[in-house]
Amino acid sequence: MKVKDILKHTRTISCEFFPPQTEDGIPGVLRAIDRLKTYRPDFVSVTYGAGGSTRSFTEEITAQVKADGDLEVMAHLTCVAQSKEVVHGVLERLEELGIENIIALRGDPPQGQTEFVAEKDGFQHATDLIEHIRERFQFGVAAACYPEGHTESTDLRSDLDYTKQKVENGADFLITQLFYDNSDYFDFVDRARQANIDVPIIPGILPLLSTSQIRRFNARCGAKIPDALDKQLEKFVDDDRAARELGVEYATEQVKELWDSGVPGIHFYVLNRSYSVSKILENLGLPGHTV
Ligand SMILES: Cc1cc2nc3c(=O)[nH]c(=O)nc-3n(C[C@H](O)[C@H](O)[C@H](O)COP(=O)(O)OP(=O)(O)OC[C@H]3O[C@@H](n4cnc5c(N)ncnc54)[C@H](O)[C@@H]3O)c2cc1C
Repeated sequence: MKVKDILKHTRTISCEFFPPQTEDGIPGVLRAIDRLKTYRPDFVSVTYGAGGSTRSFTEEITAQVKADGDLEVMAHLTCVAQSKEVVHGVLERLEELGIENIIALRGDPPQGQTEFVAEKDGFQHATDLIEHIRERFQFGVAAACYPEGHTESTDLRSDLDYTKQKVENGADFLITQLFYDNSDYFDFVDRARQANIDVPIIPGILPLLSTSQIRRFNARCGAKIPDALDKQLEKFVDDDRAARELGVEYATEQVKELWDSGVPGIHFYVLNRSYSVSKILENLGLPGHTV
């Protein structure tokens, strides 16, 4: 089923996983998905790696989840280091495997490069990939958006204009980059609605796992850590377990406020570690998502 149709009658809980580095890691990812299945997520998604064989693992894992039949799935797809023909081939294979949902992304510049340079005959932006999918395939399509602005954007206005273009080109709904201050999400949704972006905007939540991890992530993706949270994190620089518990507590509060405000869904960046998301879902006791 297409996620856009699920969103018509359900506020979704979704969980994002990433493919392993080597094939023998696939069962581990499937087990992590299985552990969260007890909380009945409305769909799960599998990211698309920066290159190499992990890309085929995205196809393999999404196909396996789809074939199991009890979870809806969305495959991530980026434009990095691939010609349009290669990307088209991936889309054809996903279609053959029965995958119905794609999140269409540009992707980050490969490691060691600071600027995204499209492959020769490749897509330059997510907007181009979305257009290609819409013209040639029947997939339900999602796209990324950035409450605090994308790291390469010069200003929030142009970033929002490109977000709007993603929707005009065919994105059915948007999932946000992670953020730790809900007011960034609420402000973004306000600005999006004023700009006549009327599709569901699902907040993306990353329960922090350790002080070093979250600082590394946030430096990369540009999401700020509120001062009060940063002070607490500082206390747990050498205690990952305590930082993870703080992450559960913080994300529970964050999601509770978002859910109570009426968001269309919550997308959890699980990072293949099911502990925190299961705890958060247990704390929240959302109808239909309790064990
Ligand atoms: C929900 C979510 C899932 C993700 N999954 C993955 C994944 O699986 N694999 C992965 O490698 N990365 C993933 N990412 C990271 C993502 O690839 C990066 O954030 C990347 O830098 C931008 O991708 P995009 O699709 O937003 O690109 P774009 O929409 O192309 O935006 C990139 C930059 O270009 C600008 N821009 C956009 N459109 C245009 C245009 N038409 N003309 C000129 N400028 C434009 C934007 O303002 C922005 O600054 C994910 C991000 C999110 C939020």
